[in-house]
Amino acid sequence: MTNQDNKRLMQKAERLCEQRGARLTPARREVFSILAEQEGAIGAYDLLDKLKVAVPNAKPPTIYRALDFLQEQGFVHKITSSNSYVLCSHFDHQHPVQMLICESCGNVQEIQSEGVYEALRRQAEDQGFVVKSQVIEAHGLCQQCH
Ligand SMILES: [Zn+2]
Ligand SMILES: [Zn+2]
Repeated sequence: MTNQDNKRLMQKAERLCEQRGARLTPARREVFSILAEQEGAIGAYDLLDKLKVAVPNAKPPTIYRALDFLQEQGFVHKITSSNSYVLCSHFDHQHPVQMLICESCGNVQEIQSEGVYEALRRQAEDQGFVVKSQVIEAHGLCQQCH
């Protein structure tokens, strides 16, 4: 992402927070912009190291609280299988999350397939299961790495 894109994303996040009455504190804002600059996904402790540049007294709870907030707002997706975080580039709407995770360079690409989403939801429904959220993580090698 370019700096321009990052700035636009940040402005979009600010607007959404304002509309929702959510507070984008300086630490939350800083974590957001670190994630925006990141190429792939990043773990909480690497995030903390970067956050300390701007917020020297940042502690693990600082980062986890910020990440919780950013996830609640839908700005950030957690990648459970690698315990890392990635910024969502289209967070203005709720959407099913399907992620392609490169095991070599760590690049994460988000795709949105309504077909996959619908198929899973229908099969779950057949089991009497109500799906609240879906995150699909696919591991492999990206275009640059294979
Ligand atoms: Zn997303
Ligand atoms: Zn790769």
